Amino acid sequence: MAELIKVKNPIVEMDGDEMTRIIWQMIKEKLLFPFIDIDLKYYDLGMKHRDDTDDKVTVDAANAITEYGVGVKCATITPNADRVKEYSLKKMWVSPNATIRSILDGTVFRKPIIMKNIPPGVTAWKKPITIGRHAYGDIYKCVEYVVPGAGTAEIVFTPADGGEKKSLLIHRYEGPGVVMGMHNTEKSIRSFAKACINYALSEKIDIWFGTKDTISKLYHGFFRDVFADEVSKAKAQFEKAGISYRYLLIDDAVAQIVKSPGGMMWACMNYDGDVMSDMVATGFGSLGLMTSVLVSPDGKFEYEAAHGTVTRHYYEHLKGNTTSTNSIASIFAWTGAIAKRGELDNTPAVVKFARTLEQTIVDTVESGIMTKDLMLIASPAVSKYAQTGEFIDAVAERLKKAL
Ligand code: NAP
Ligand code: MG
Repeated sequence: MAELIKVKNPIVEMDGDEMTRIIWQMIKEKLLFPFIDIDLKYYDLGMKHRDDTDDKVTVDAANAITEYGVGVKCATITPNADRVKEYSLKKMWVSPNATIRSILDGTVFRKPIIMKNIPPGVTAWKKPITIGRHAYGDIYKCVEYVVPGAGTAEIVFTPADGGEKKSLLIHRYEGPGVVMGMHNTEKSIRSFAKACINYALSEKIDIWFGTKDTISKLYHGFFRDVFADEVSKAKAQFEKAGISYRYLLIDDAVAQIVKSPGGMMWACMNYDGDVMSDMVATGFGSLGLMTSVLVSPDGKFEYEAAHGTVTRHYYEHLKGNTTSTNSIASIFAWTGAIAKRGELDNTPAVVKFARTLEQTIVDTVESGIMTKDLMLIASPAVSKYAQTGEFIDAVAERLKKAL
């Protein structure tokens, strides 16, 4: 056996839940530890441990990413009422991803993995569409209220410097209803625009950005103006990289994206990014092929799969049934983190290991070995699918030969 490839600096590892936690263990045992020597700062973000630590472990993990610069995260349960019962939770803890995003003030980029025999459902798409999702504020940090009956809802702004209060009428209710207040900050929108610009420049891809500024002239208009301002500051770099910036109304953006060959970064406001990343993932084939990275404005990186913990498969697994869960996006979370670590540490052998593992996965699928989610859409068709562990074993076999 050849010597292990040494990764110079640590990576922050965040373990997770259900089916992805099982896959996570297999990836480390079969695809990483036999080949690389890596110092992992381990944080267990599994539901039980988050509850035991009153969610302190999530905050500690986010701080560790700030310290070490690179993290990799397994999918985790975001508790709802059912989960509170299932795990006897002390409370309905917030989404760990939301906690980490707000500590890192990051932007999430999602990019599909493209393979020759997994044709996108949207036939026009030839190149990946990367979604850049603003990961702060709007409805994700909103205040809402179920209005019990007739009354008045207002927005009140009280200046910190003791200036005059400003109030705006939202609605005069004649009966029950509902109301919401949401916000964003110039600082966060600028960080978002900068992160998108940096990502597009490094990947040499155009940026598209859309909002509903015809309806929301001030809120959405603010996003449009701040984004355009950051783009204008980077004009020379855009020209040098040979890329362009295109602003559209969000409706138009959706229509144009579906007709396009892809290959751009689509910058999205928080809610648009949440919804459209699922649309783009499905359009490209499978959630199991969608990768995700959170980039902070000061250059910290957290990699993960875009999908969740694949609960339905986990329950089958618990019943003793075999599963065919796609591990590719979780493996790419690891290779993304390892390659970034190698790039930051200036250790080309580490980057090469990550790229070789990625290529091995593509080769494995293109040779006809794949999980059921991919088999259902493969062209040319394949006649059988690999179980969860079988796929990882097949990749490990090929990886030994490729290295
Ligand atoms: P999900 O785990 O993404 O799974 C939804 C469905 O998509 C699965 O039932 C499966 O379809 C298919 N799928 C997703 N990933 C797959 C993979 N790797 N291989 C094969 N099929 C895959 O979403 P969910 O069921 O809505 O959520 C489950 C849990 O994950 C929830 O507790 C949620 O809070 C959490 N979640 C976490 C994150 C995160 O940590 N980033 C993101 C989203 C959701 P079939 O059943 O048809 O096979
Ligand atoms: Mg979503």
